[in-house]
Amino acid sequence: MIKKLSEQLKKEIRVIPNFPKKGILFQDITSITDNKKLFKQVIVALSQYVKQNTITKIAGIEARGFIFGAALANESCLPFVPIRKASKLPGEIYKQKYKLEYGEDEIQIHKNAVIKSDKVLIIDDLIATGGTAQAAAKLISKCKPKDIEFYFIINLNNLDGFKKLQKNYKAKFILQAEG
Ligand code: AMP
Repeated sequence: MIKKLSEQLKKEIRVIPNFPKKGILFQDITSITDNKKLFKQVIVALSQYVKQNTITKIAGIEARGFIFGAALANESCLPFVPIRKASKLPGEIYKQKYKLEYGEDEIQIHKNAVIKSDKVLIIDDLIATGGTAQAAAKLISKCKPKDIEFYFIINLNNLDGFKKLQKNYKAKFILQAEG
């Protein structure tokens, strides 16, 4: 099922050269969400994985991880944990800083969003260098859950973020592309 979906995504996904800056091949996931059948197929495929792997919570990385993560949580009848950029959450929080190409960024979660018995599946639209995903894993680890796994819609295989992440976490993707 994933193989067929991957072939279909490959055909449908819009790739925009030199956006947002020169040299980037931007993978535009609105070409998935614009297509009601394809969007549903992606979410159903992910929800089968969730069921088979007895995941208890879905976490999504701001902002594009929210689109797929929240839809998946709803399809799977599970809670959704937003991994937010700094200063957006009102409750007690855990924080994690991470490096960007220029400077650094920070992500946060509510401390009580994940508990020790949870098996958390972290969702993002795409993994490139893996910096965001590694930071998300460190952040969720502060809650000491039973397990942390990842699912991405797209893996940019000209960068080695996914390979590095896989050394420490179970991780999957639907489609491989170049970015
Ligand atoms: P990274 O931390 O390098 O793995 O970057 C991952 C984040 O950057 C994802 O949340 C993507 O939304 C975004 N991103 C990086 N490269 C691309 C690309 N070529 N096309 C679309 N989004 C990208």
